[in-house]
Amino acid sequence: MTAYRDMSREELLELKSRLEKEFEDVKGKGLKLDMSRGKPSKAQLDLSMGMMDVLKSTSDLVCEEGVDCRNYGVIDGIKEAKQLLSDMMEVPKDNIIIFGNSSLNVMYDTVARAMTHGIMGSTPWAKLDKIKFLCPVPGYDRHFAITEHFGIEMINIPMTSDGPDMDLVEQYVENDPAVKGIWCVPKYSNPQGITYSDETVHRFAKLNPAAEDFRIFWDNAYGIHHLYEDKQDYLIEILMECKKEGHPNMVYKFGSTSKISFPGSGIAAIAASDENLAEIRKMMSVQTIGHDKLNQLRHARFFGDIHGMVQHMKKHADILRPKFDTVLSVLESELGGLEIGSWIAPRGGYFISFDALDGCAKAIVAKAKEAGLIMTKAGATFPYGKDPKDSNIRIAPSFPTPEELEVAAQVFVLSVKLVSIDKILGEKVEVE
Ligand code: PMP
Repeated sequence: MTAYRDMSREELLELKSRLEKEFEDVKGKGLKLDMSRGKPSKAQLDLSMGMMDVLKSTSDLVCEEGVDCRNYGVIDGIKEAKQLLSDMMEVPKDNIIIFGNSSLNVMYDTVARAMTHGIMGSTPWAKLDKIKFLCPVPGYDRHFAITEHFGIEMINIPMTSDGPDMDLVEQYVENDPAVKGIWCVPKYSNPQGITYSDETVHRFAKLNPAAEDFRIFWDNAYGIHHLYEDKQDYLIEILMECKKEGHPNMVYKFGSTSKISFPGSGIAAIAASDENLAEIRKMMSVQTIGHDKLNQLRHARFFGDIHGMVQHMKKHADILRPKFDTVLSVLESELGGLEIGSWIAPRGGYFISFDALDGCAKAIVAKAKEAGLIMTKAGATFPYGKDPKDSNIRIAPSFPTPEELEVAAQVFVLSVKLVSIDKILGEKVEVE
C-alpha cells in the first residue's frame, strides 16, 4: 500500500474519481446503517431473557434481610444484590450502595450533591466562583454533558496508551484548588478501549489534591466486558489502592449491569469509603424510600453469583467479538499503510476509536451520512463537543448485525479515503 501523501496529484485525482464512482453506487443502495451508539444488539438482550422467568407470581419474594421485596424497606440495596455487585466491582460488600437502573444517574446526583451541599462539610461547589473538572480525552460524552450542565469548566487531558497523561493530572490536581474532580473510564475506556496501567492507578492513588473535596469519578462501566478469553486487561482496584495510600475518601467508583443484563433496566451501584457512603446515604434517605428491590432480586437470582455473571459475559463476548473483528479487519485491509488514520484494537468494551487526519472527522461523518451510515457526531468525544483537532471518531460496532456491519465498515473506510484525498490534495495545492 502506498501512503496517500506519497502519491502524486494525478494519482490521487485518478483514485478519487474511482472512489467517487464506488461511493455513488453505495449511495444508490439507500442504506440505513447506524454505528453511533454503544447499544447491545437484540441477540445480546435475548441472553438475559431468563431473568423474566426467575420471579413468578408464586415466587418467594423475601430477600436475605427477611424483607418482602414487594414492599418498602432496605434503602441501600438487598444483601444478595450487594454481594453480586460488590464482587463485580471488586470491593467489600459493605462499601457499596445499590441504586436504581442507571449509574449515569448516580454520577449526576453525586455532582449535584457536591454543588448544592458540598462534600463532607466543605463549601458547596455552587458557592465557589470557579469549579473545574479534568476530562481525559477522547472520553464519554455524557460525562461531559453532566459537568457542562452544572457550569463546571472542563479541562482536556490527553489520553496515552496507559491512561490519562498523569504528569498533567498531578500538575492540575496538586496545584489548583478549583480542580474538584476527574472523569475516568479506567477499563476498556469509552471510546478507546484503553485500560489504565498499574503505574497510572498508583499515581492516582498517590495524588495529593490541593482541594480537600477533590474526588476521582471512577466509572468502571466496562469492568468485566472482555472480548477475548485469552487476552484480557487487568486493572488495579482503586478503592483499596487509595486506602493504602492514606486517601480512602478520594474516589467514587461507579458501575452497573446496563451492558450485562438490560440497559435501562439493570441495577447500578456506587462503591466508596465508609465516610463517603454515610454522606450519600443521608441524602438518599431524603430522595427515596428505596429503589426497585424486585429488580435487584431478579438480578441476584438470575446470575446466582459473580461466576454466573462471568459466564454470562462470555456469551456477550461471543456475539461482540466477530463484530469487532469485522470492523478491525476492514480498517486494516482498506486503510492499513495509507497513513490517513489510526485506531486501537481494544480487548474489551464497546468501541473502536478512530483518529482521522486532522481537520477531517466532521467531513467523514457527514460523508458517511450521505451514504446512509450514522456515526457518533464528530467532536462528541470531547468536552463542549469540540475536538480541537477535528480528528476523533467513535465507532460503535455492537448494534448492527454482522452483515450490516461489513457494509457499514466499507462505507466508513470509503468516506475516510475520499475526505482524506481532498485534504491531501488541498495541501499539495498550498505547497505548489
Ligand atoms: N458510563 C460509561 C462509560 C458508558 O459508556 C455508559 C453507557 N453505556 C454509561 C456509563 C451509562 O451507564 P448506565 O446505563 O448505568 O447509566
